[in-house]
Amino acid sequence: MSISRYSTDKPINKEWAKKSLNIYKGCKNNCRYCYAKRMGYRFGWKKEGTWTEMEVQSNIVKKGFRKLKNKDYKFDYMFPSSHDIFPEIVDTYIDVLRKVLSAKNTVLITSKPYLSCIEKIIESIESYKDQINFRFTITTMDNDKKNYWEANAPSISERLEALKLAHDKGFETSISIEPYLDKNPIRLIMKVEPHVSETIWIGKMSNIPNDSETYYEFQEQINSLDNVKVIMANVEELPEEVKAKIMLKGSIRDMLRNEIYKKYKN
Ligand code: SF4
Repeated sequence: MSISRYSTDKPINKEWAKKSLNIYKGCKNNCRYCYAKRMGYRFGWKKEGTWTEMEVQSNIVKKGFRKLKNKDYKFDYMFPSSHDIFPEIVDTYIDVLRKVLSAKNTVLITSKPYLSCIEKIIESIESYKDQINFRFTITTMDNDKKNYWEANAPSISERLEALKLAHDKGFETSISIEPYLDKNPIRLIMKVEPHVSETIWIGKMSNIPNDSETYYEFQEQINSLDNVKVIMANVEELPEEVKAKIMLKGSIRDMLRNEIYKKYKN
């Protein structure tokens, strides 16, 4: 298996875009595995226990944007990266997005999408289509797991609808299966692939929270090197046109590289 075929050499904390852009602190989705929430509490930019209270960053909402200097990344901005887009904030989101796009920046729109929000965004910025990629997070085919880890986020079927819509409207589309919540994400890959024009990223859950009674052990197990090897063997069996879209997040890439390094060192 060639890991480089499925990887980039970008640093693990900055794989997708030159810069992250956020206009709120906090996120109503309140996913149990949320990395931004942990960082917010740790570094004090969000008061412990207030993650679901979304505080607008007025200075960012009001500011102007120029074209970012960027030679290394396909996308100038990933927007948002530490909150999501909700019906009650979508108009503010679109106002800022328009400013970023009109300065000729490229934008990776990342979301666990509400269909109504994606409809509105598409309607408002269709003329900037070539500067946008919609990257939607779909982590599982199992509603019980979704309801446990991402209780407040839109259903899997709603996210699939949003993906189909963006793809049918001719936008570049991609999927993030990070963190994968199923033992084997191949069924999910095959489900989304027809509606993905660009990439499908697979990543592990980092720092599994130990409050996750029901799924803690399961998540540890599916994160293991043995399971990652099984997933990769399954990926290798996929049709070429599907394989061409698969990308590994740094969490998996580095795990597999370490394994190869150890093998040749001994
Ligand atoms: S959608 Fe993203 S930012 Fe919002 S709680 Fe979930 S993981 Fe955190």
